Amino acid sequence: MKIAIEGAGVGGSYLYFLLSKAGEDVHLYDINDTYIKACGEAVPNLYKPRFPWDVVDEIHEFSFFIDGKEMQTVNYRHPKWIIIDKAGWIQAMRNSGSNFIKGRLNDRRGYDLIIRAYGPYDLSRDVVTVVRAIVKANTQEHKGVIFEFDSRFSGFYWIFPSGNGRYNIGGGFTEIRNPTELVRWYISKKFKQPEIIDMRGAPLSIGRVSNVKYSIGEARGLVYPLTGEGIRPASISAECANEAIYKKVDVELYLQEKLKPVEYDIAFQRRLLTIYRLMPQTMRRITFQHMLNKVKFLDNYLDEKINIKTIFAN
Ligand SMILES: Cc1cc2nc3c(=O)[nH]c(=O)nc-3n(C[C@H](O)[C@H](O)[C@H](O)COP(=O)(O)OP(=O)(O)OC[C@H]3O[C@@H](n4cnc5c(N)ncnc54)[C@H](O)[C@@H]3O)c2cc1C
Repeated sequence: MKIAIEGAGVGGSYLYFLLSKAGEDVHLYDINDTYIKACGEAVPNLYKPRFPWDVVDEIHEFSFFIDGKEMQTVNYRHPKWIIIDKAGWIQAMRNSGSNFIKGRLNDRRGYDLIIRAYGPYDLSRDVVTVVRAIVKANTQEHKGVIFEFDSRFSGFYWIFPSGNGRYNIGGGFTEIRNPTELVRWYISKKFKQPEIIDMRGAPLSIGRVSNVKYSIGEARGLVYPLTGEGIRPASISAECANEAIYKKVDVELYLQEKLKPVEYDIAFQRRLLTIYRLMPQTMRRITFQHMLNKVKFLDNYLDEKINIKTIFAN
C-alpha cells in the first residue's frame, strides 16, 4: 500500500516514523523544510511516545492568577508536566525515513491512502490566534508554571520554563484577534529587563471541524480548548492510524472508534468554553475564584481530566 501524509508536525511526523519503521511505503509532505510553529511545548507527564523526545524541564509547581491576583499554588513531588524539545523531536522523526518531501501534495494519484495531518491550517473551524515569546530574563523569580486569567476575556497568559534561563511566555483570547501587544505588556509586567529572543503566533482550534475524514491531530480538531493541549492527542491519533494500517482495517472507522473518549472530552470542553464566553465579567470572576480554590479541580485541569464525570464530582 502506498501512503501519503500531508503535514509533518507532531501527528504527521510521528505517523511517518511509525510506518517507516514497519517497512510501509510512505511519503511525508510539508510546506516548510523545518518545523517553525509557535508552541508552549508542555506535555502532561502521563504519556511517552515510541520515538522519545528530549525533556528540557520538569515541572512540579503551578501557580494560578486571576486579574493579577495570585489565587493558588500547587506543588507535586513528581513532575506533573514536562517541557519537551518539540521542534527537535519533529525534525528527528522527519529524518527517520528517506521520503520527506518539502511542498504540498499536489498529485494525489498513485496513493492508496492519504492521511491529513496539516494542523489547524485549513481554517475549516473556529480558531484563536495564540502568541508566544521566548524570553531571556535575569531572574529566578518565577519557578514552575504560571497561568494567569484575565476575566475581561476568554483565555489566559502562561509562563513556562524553557531551559537555560529562558521562559516561554504566551497568551491567547477568543475576543482578541492578535494578542501580540497584550503578551508584550504581560512580559513587561512580570519581568525586569526581559529580552525577547523570538515572538510568533499560530492558530489554535477551538471549534468543531466539519470534515475530519482520514485526518489526525489538530486537522481533526484534537486539541483541548480550555488548555490548548494538542501534542499528546496528535501523537495518540498517529498511533491509532498506525495500528489501523497494521491491522489492515479502515483507518477512518478505527480512528472514530479509538478516539471516541478523547473527542468526547474535547467536545465537552468546547461547550464549557461557549458558556464561559457568554458570562458577564463578574460571573467569570466568581466562577474562577470558586474553581481555583479547589485543588482537585486544578489537578484535573493539569491532567486534562475536566469532563462530565469530574466536574460535578469536585
Ligand atoms: C502558541 C501555541 C502554544 C501551544 N502550546 C501547546 C503546549 O504547550 N502543549 C500542547 O500540547 N499543545 C500546545 N499547542 C497546540 C499544539 O501546538 C498543536 O495542537 C499540535 O502541534 C498539533 O499537532 P499536529 O501534528 O496536528 O499539527 P501541527 O503541529 O500544527 O503541524 C502541522 C504541519 O502541517 C504543515 N502544513 C500546513 N498546511 C500544509 C499543507 N497544505 N501541506 C503540507 N503541510 C502543511 C505545517 O507546516 C506543519 O508543519 C499550542 C499551540 C499554539 C498555537
